Amino acid sequence: MKKYCYGICLVISITINILLSIYIYAGGEKNQEISHQLSLTWSEKAAAEAEAVAAISCSGHGRAFLEGLIYDGQPVCECYDCYGGPDCSELSPECVADADSGDPIFLEPFWMQNVADSSILIPGWHRMSYQYGDYTLMSTELEYYIRKLHSIVGNAITEGRYMVFGVGSSQLLTAALYALSSENSSSPSNVLATIPYYPMYKGQTVLFNSENFEFGGDTNSWQSNNSTNNIDVIEFVTSPNNPDGELKKSVLGGKTIYDHAYFWPHFTPIPGPSDHDLMIFTLSKLTGHAGVRFGWVIIKDKEVYEKLSKYITVADLGISKDTQLRVLKLLKVVIEKDGKPLFEFAYNIMKDRWDRLTSIFSKSTRFSIQKRHPLHCNFYNETRLPSPAYAWVKCEREEDDDCGAVLEASKIIGRSGSTFSAKNRYTRLSLIKSQDDFEMLMLRLTELVSLEIGSVETM
Ligand code: PMP
Repeated sequence: MKKYCYGICLVISITINILLSIYIYAGGEKNQEISHQLSLTWSEKAAAEAEAVAAISCSGHGRAFLEGLIYDGQPVCECYDCYGGPDCSELSPECVADADSGDPIFLEPFWMQNVADSSILIPGWHRMSYQYGDYTLMSTELEYYIRKLHSIVGNAITEGRYMVFGVGSSQLLTAALYALSSENSSSPSNVLATIPYYPMYKGQTVLFNSENFEFGGDTNSWQSNNSTNNIDVIEFVTSPNNPDGELKKSVLGGKTIYDHAYFWPHFTPIPGPSDHDLMIFTLSKLTGHAGVRFGWVIIKDKEVYEKLSKYITVADLGISKDTQLRVLKLLKVVIEKDGKPLFEFAYNIMKDRWDRLTSIFSKSTRFSIQKRHPLHCNFYNETRLPSPAYAWVKCEREEDDDCGAVLEASKIIGRSGSTFSAKNRYTRLSLIKSQDDFEMLMLRLTELVSLEIGSVETM
């Protein structure tokens, strides 16, 4: 009987061992993943370092970074505007509301919520080569995800189109001018944009001082002064426009560069896919990662594509492989559940900000903001108001011809109209900074408008 029991125990033990061995060594991908997880080696130290710095809370009013401010060998908090102290908990009561820059920090909370899915870890030997394995400078996988993103959002046609990556869309603006301008022509191509326009178009054109293109100013003045028939023009069409959020169309109908930096569902209803010859997009205003410096251009014509590609290769030998890896990781999160989580999050913030802003300006006769018109959005399949990245404020009183100065006297910093080649009666206020920045802007604007109400009531 005893012998019999030992026999059964031995058979059971051998069976369990065989099953365990099969489970561990031949258990498919899942088990391999687990066994990899159990044997983390080099990544542990890097992960611990990244988590340690991310755990410094800075009271929610700042951030610490590994390559940021260091004190006594340790990363310390970099506080956002208006906050100070070692943990950024001290609010400065006299603080100015700085609504100048278009830094898209409003999306930071989304990436904090999705940190596990959006973080990357780069080994020291990662992609040291100038090229990918297929001798190109662009990740095929990343290009595939960008095309997928456009088809989910429905904001651009990419089938049968070429694509080039750039260091932000900023690099692609000049690359596009180079690609579209005529070489060996007796006179340079004229670069035009419609007032109010993004100042970089003029800034870059003047800086590069090319023989092939020069800045020609505003499209409407150009049209009234020239017959464009035999003059080569390249028109920047910013849609939605920076600073006023308008969905612009070409004025001159010649060669165009469509700047679609803000053509995403959180800023504008998407009426349909854009299908222009040359369209530029940027990660900066899509996910908020302006610091990553990544943009892309979609091109119809092969010759234009080849010229633009040549520009990027000669200027920089392509863009950082680390950046491409990071963008791929971010876009995988963006397209999850057909883009709903990111766009819903971003739209809700922008809508809330516009509701509050509109409510303040509705009480004012001294200041006005741009009118917004509802439009059908194919992405949400409903009619919505746009929620642009910037408020384009007009000072209505005749004497307030320097609107920036009027706002500054009330501790509000905007970007003056003349920066956009418009009148200084206009000022741009950024609505895409952090929640702290926006709250300070709301406070200062409320104070400013209530002064006005006070003066009316005492009259
Ligand atoms: N185009 C427009 C209209 C912009 O507002 C900006 C950024 N403010 C850019 C291009 C450049 O963006 P980036 O270089 O970050 O892609």
